[in-house]
Amino acid sequence: MARYRQCGYLRYQPQIEQAIAERYSLLSQLRLALNEDQLFLELQPKVQMTDGSLVGFEALVRWRHPEGKIIRPDQFIPLAEMSGLIGRLDHKVLRMTLDAIKALHQAGIRVPVAFNASGIELVRPLFFETLQQTIQESGVDPCWLELEITESQAVQEYDLITPNLNRLIQMGMQISIDDFGTGYSSLTHLAELEATTLKIDKSFVQQMGVSEYGDELVTVIIRLASRFGYKIIAEGVETQAQRDQLLALGCPLGQGYLFARPMPLADALVWSESYLVK
Ligand code: C2E
Ligand code: CA
Ligand code: CA
Ligand code: CA
Repeated sequence: MARYRQCGYLRYQPQIEQAIAERYSLLSQLRLALNEDQLFLELQPKVQMTDGSLVGFEALVRWRHPEGKIIRPDQFIPLAEMSGLIGRLDHKVLRMTLDAIKALHQAGIRVPVAFNASGIELVRPLFFETLQQTIQESGVDPCWLELEITESQAVQEYDLITPNLNRLIQMGMQISIDDFGTGYSSLTHLAELEATTLKIDKSFVQQMGVSEYGDELVTVIIRLASRFGYKIIAEGVETQAQRDQLLALGCPLGQGYLFARPMPLADALVWSESYLVK
């Protein structure tokens, strides 16, 4: 008995039960959220770091919970993936992104808008058909749409998704490899990834000037990207020093709190007025 008490098994059980109950409850609320339009997008600018001018947006999903709080994607995307809701969620995000592009165009702002798709969805046979059809129905030219997929997704399911990514590029869409440098070693595939852009993960940006190898790692990523003909952009740029160093190392594009936080569409329209090069 004493040993049981020591390892704490009996004592912690109620907490585990509560955690599971909370997840279930959040899941049924998420199901409701999808039906009741509680999800919305925030747009974060991508900029030319020399002058801060706007080159694009990334759409990031948020959940306006009926109790008033805004829930961040890290808290519900994994839940949606586990429960099979992710297909509907991603589709909703795509449609909201297309609507945002139309609103931006109406305001005279013509830049690509990126959306994130879950790896689970990318390997589903009908994913690309649905994507293509939804874009067509919206009347938006695919050249204004960008897909961000993480490095591990792009490499893990390489054979399955590569032909599909190629089709999207043929349609005129841009493809970004997100969180580049953090995933499976994609070096073997680097020459042949069906992508237009590599996004340097913010963990590397944050290591610059901090750890011994921080700058070297970023230098290598930038060299590799240009060697293989990819566009390159850094995410999570928070300080002037990071911006300066990235520019010095040859990375002209960036995204991060230094330039702008993710914001609702209405704010993005206002923000763009000052930062759009016409
Ligand atoms: P991500 O694609 O790597 O997105 C970048 C995250 O970094 C965003 O967090 C953004 O708000 C945050 N960020 C931007 N600038 C800075 C900065 O300067 N410093 C720091 N510390 N953070 C910064 P967010 O919006 O919470 O999104 C988290 C993750 O959730 C995203 O990571 C993406 O993987 C996922 N996600 C977001 N929206 C969607 C979506 O619509 N569908 C799917 N499947 N996943 C999504
Ligand atoms: Ca992303
Ligand atoms: Ca990212
Ligand atoms: Ca990330």
